[in-house]
Amino acid sequence: MTTSVSPDHAWLRESIGLATRNVAEGGGPFGAVVVRDGLVIATGTNQVTPTLDPTAHAEVVAIRAACQAVGDFRLNGCVLVSSCEPCPLCLSAALWARVDRVVYAADRHDAARAGFDDREFYELFGKPREQWSLPVHQVSTGEDDAPFEAWLARADRVDY
Ligand SMILES: [Zn+2]
Repeated sequence: MTTSVSPDHAWLRESIGLATRNVAEGGGPFGAVVVRDGLVIATGTNQVTPTLDPTAHAEVVAIRAACQAVGDFRLNGCVLVSSCEPCPLCLSAALWARVDRVVYAADRHDAARAGFDDREFYELFGKPREQWSLPVHQVSTGEDDAPFEAWLARADRVDY
């Protein structure tokens, strides 16, 4: 029987420790770290209630901190490690940040048992918008493309 553990396990345990300690500090039970070249370069904990920010999920907080740490909005070469399965918001943030990989410990069903049901968001994205409880409509103005035209006309833009 081997006693070795993968680096993922160590980082997951760190994320879980952050999440558990965050509860005592008034935050939500979620923690995340961003790893590059085998080193934790940033950490994050859920800060939704203390900062009145519904987007301050642990993964988003960790991604923001990692970007500040590396001085880039891209996190190529990085792994996002979370105490719990990232919700659609955080998965999208991971995609925008271009991380190489995402790994998590608890899953969406574990989170739902604790009262954090992002399963309903996952299910929502699988349904036609006409069935959503949140009305989302396109209303064309005739000027819809103006921001994109301005963007494309700007030679010094930084694509992302
Ligand atoms: Zn999230």
